[in-house]
Amino acid sequence: MKNIKIIIAGPRGRMGREAVRLVERTDHFQLIAVLDYKNDGKMLADLGDFPNVNVPIYTDIEQCFQENDADVLIDLTTPEVGMTHAETALRYGVRPVVGTTGFTKENLLKLEADCQEKKIGCIIAPNFAIGAVLMMRFSQMAAKFFNDVEIIELHHDQKLDAPSGTAVKTAEMISAVKEEKQQGHPNEKETMKGARGANYDGMHIHSVRLPGLIAHQQVMFGSNGQTLTIRHDSYNRESFMSGVKVAVETVMNIDTFIYGLENILE
Ligand code: NAP
Repeated sequence: MKNIKIIIAGPRGRMGREAVRLVERTDHFQLIAVLDYKNDGKMLADLGDFPNVNVPIYTDIEQCFQENDADVLIDLTTPEVGMTHAETALRYGVRPVVGTTGFTKENLLKLEADCQEKKIGCIIAPNFAIGAVLMMRFSQMAAKFFNDVEIIELHHDQKLDAPSGTAVKTAEMISAVKEEKQQGHPNEKETMKGARGANYDGMHIHSVRLPGLIAHQQVMFGSNGQTLTIRHDSYNRESFMSGVKVAVETVMNIDTFIYGLENILE
């Protein structure tokens, strides 16, 4: 199989470091450069974590794409930066695989339009853990039978966006099959702002942030006399890498925009 030439944005981050390891251990993946807003002009090997990975670090994304003939950009940074990275990659004909969360609907529509114009693939997945994708799927199945549901997502306290991309995606998937319903008592009042969490089409989403957590979500359904809880836990960031690998391989063979790992697993 031909090598897939990859640039990683955010290589010092927790996800970015795992992605560097993934690329390094995968025979047909080749890391050719990294994007970091610090350390311009150095080599990744100079930073300590990867003494044997001799690829250049760029701060200027345009220069990075001009000097490196990449197939795929893996972005694991922040939503604002990630959006610019994905747009610029598409402009240079480089396929984005984006794990960064917190993109707005407008961001997604813009990237979809750019993809259509360029006729190359782009995959954005708010959760690359295969178990999390199944949790979303099972929740969508359950929502056909339970009309009341609350989503509780739990993450480490360094996470910037709330609710999580996975929670929003789960709410969207549930909303696609469930009748809209303002849940809870029609006259309920929050005596403390935020107590009932965010409201998506009448269902509530609660975000927990604590040190010690990685990425967890439980979707709780209730009806008379019973509840059903569907839960997924990621205990480390390696749990996301099998999904990143599938996405990098898939994005080479598509010319469309895909949002959500579930859309490429089958
Ligand atoms: P993190 O450890 O904070 O890593 C983010 C990295 O991006 C940091 O090293 C940061 O550098 C760097 N960065 C910021 N601006 C940059 C720029 N302009 N160019 C290059 N790098 C830049 O966070 P993380 O836990 O790895 O998560 C990264 C993203 O992935 C987040 O959006 C998170 O929600 C998401 N995530 C997705 C999944 C999934 O399955 N899709 C799973 C987990 C996390 P500094 O620290 O120096 O600012």
